[in-house]
Amino acid sequence: MADTDRLRTVDEHLAIVLGGIGSIDPIELTLLDAQGLLLAENVVTDVPLPGFDNSAMDGYAVRAVDTRAASSDNPLILPVVGDVVAGAKSRSGMGPGLAMRIMTGAPIPAGADAVIPLEETDQGVARVAIGRPVHTGECVRRAGEDLAAGAPALGAGAALGPQQLALLAAIGRDRVVVRPRPRVLVISTGSELIEVGHRPSFGEVTDSNSYLVASAAKDAGADARRLGIVPDDHSKLLDTLESQLLRADILITTGGVSMGAFDVVKQALSELGTVEFTRVAMQPGKPQGFGHLGDRIPIFCLPGNPVSALVSFEVFVRPAIRKLLGKRNLQRATVQAKALEGAQSVAGVRQYRRGLLHREANGGYSVSFVGGAGSHLIAAMAAANCLVVIGEDDTEVTAGSRVTVMPLLLANR
Ligand code: AMP
Ligand code: MG
Repeated sequence: MADTDRLRTVDEHLAIVLGGIGSIDPIELTLLDAQGLLLAENVVTDVPLPGFDNSAMDGYAVRAVDTRAASSDNPLILPVVGDVVAGAKSRSGMGPGLAMRIMTGAPIPAGADAVIPLEETDQGVARVAIGRPVHTGECVRRAGEDLAAGAPALGAGAALGPQQLALLAAIGRDRVVVRPRPRVLVISTGSELIEVGHRPSFGEVTDSNSYLVASAAKDAGADARRLGIVPDDHSKLLDTLESQLLRADILITTGGVSMGAFDVVKQALSELGTVEFTRVAMQPGKPQGFGHLGDRIPIFCLPGNPVSALVSFEVFVRPAIRKLLGKRNLQRATVQAKALEGAQSVAGVRQYRRGLLHREANGGYSVSFVGGAGSHLIAAMAAANCLVVIGEDDTEVTAGSRVTVMPLLLANR
């Protein structure tokens, strides 16, 4: 390849893309809407957890000191002077030498300092027999033992999963300030494209890229929408993009970025001067457009072949979405796997092949290729669960050698 050294490397292009991604102002969301997002405030609790001393068991509240001499041969019999239930509105009290029946989570009565579990007693109603000494504090959950009032609960940058949302609810926060999901708008370009649900006439192609890219963006954590199809028409494309600028944090187009006479995305956006079209040393996905429109809204112009669009998304767009979400690890994790078959690659380009990753009995991974290198192979793409990354310096993968694999597992699987 004569012009290899004029191509931009994948890493160079990724660095340029990430350098062009700013940040989005934090917003306040209710807890379930904040799931999966990163906290953008330091949360301090103004209530202790637990909120009051309460019983860890169903049992009898007692004064430990009263039970010192109790034994199975010589059980202590205490009068039971009442019940304390969870949700009791006021704190009950009891004098020395008495017991109260208490439920899990109910407030420890004033005067008591321990609970003996129900099953270790005769379960009496008017009187209870206790066959062993009860230790001070036994089966008592102390107010603030989990988190004291005034203590930090979660710090800015914390990822909000189920446990963190539970903590926020427990301390009485129903809304939190988070880094929002980037609003991603996806446009498919191409005069041959038709909407799904219509039988294509000769020469027509059903738009699949917008489903591919919008769902991949959602999987990466974005709030993604399809804007549908725009034909290869200069002014229709510019009008559509312009009408969406206030609604998007990232715009993505597919198609129209190659060298063809009708590659309208490239022609129309090049003229604006804020979107750069370049060739990256990768396969698929060589033609790439990236830049900004309007008030510095990032726009990715991905190539139209579905596999090219997927690979471009994974390599460039996913890290950009994750950067906007405030995540630390921007790139997909990779694993090393044993290639179960050989493959050829091209010197000077990083090749991303579709693969099927298997977990071996010994805990390692192996990988086979699915379909060929063709970037139009949608069914093969759907059968794959990973991309096999063949480096710029490798022209051949031999069966049995170790290769780098990028698993494409859904975030929530
Ligand atoms: P382009 O990048 O516009 O030259 O398109 C390259 C190839 O991808 C062509 O065969 C297109 O028909 C196909 N293609 C482009 N956009 C889409 C799309 N949204 N869905 C499915 N195939 C597409
Ligand atoms: Mg096209």
